[in-house]
Amino acid sequence: MSEPSSSLPAAALRPMAAAMVCPTCRAAWRSVATCPRCGTDLTALMRVAVRAWELRQAARAALCAGDRPAEALALARAACQLHTTPYGQRLFALALLVNGHMAEADTVLTQALQAQQPPFPLPLRDNWLQVFLIATTC
Ligand SMILES: [Zn+2]
Repeated sequence: MSEPSSSLPAAALRPMAAAMVCPTCRAAWRSVATCPRCGTDLTALMRVAVRAWELRQAARAALCAGDRPAEALALARAACQLHTTPYGQRLFALALLVNGHMAEADTVLTQALQAQQPPFPLPLRDNWLQVFLIATTC
């Protein structure tokens, strides 16, 4: 079950990699099916975001079940590969932590925090507390 730290996909570590944009004009995606700037159909983009959300939900359920940590990690990793969100990165960090990948978890969480705007310059310890809260709000 253990994975070397080099197995982390680059996309999972890229902060805010997922700021989804219109593939035609690069306008920021605003959760609508048609780009307001150029009219491109963004249905496929929405499907990706929905699938990532489903994977995050499944990862959270696997974590909360308490006996499927490897499954939770695979789901959280897959979600981040599709669409990286601050919540998804915290969930991914928690799944890494639960699976004993402490250094990778710290890296993911640190990069997630660096990508965020204030009010998030909390001490790292407080952000780990938030990660813990994600798991305990099942
Ligand atoms: Zn566009």
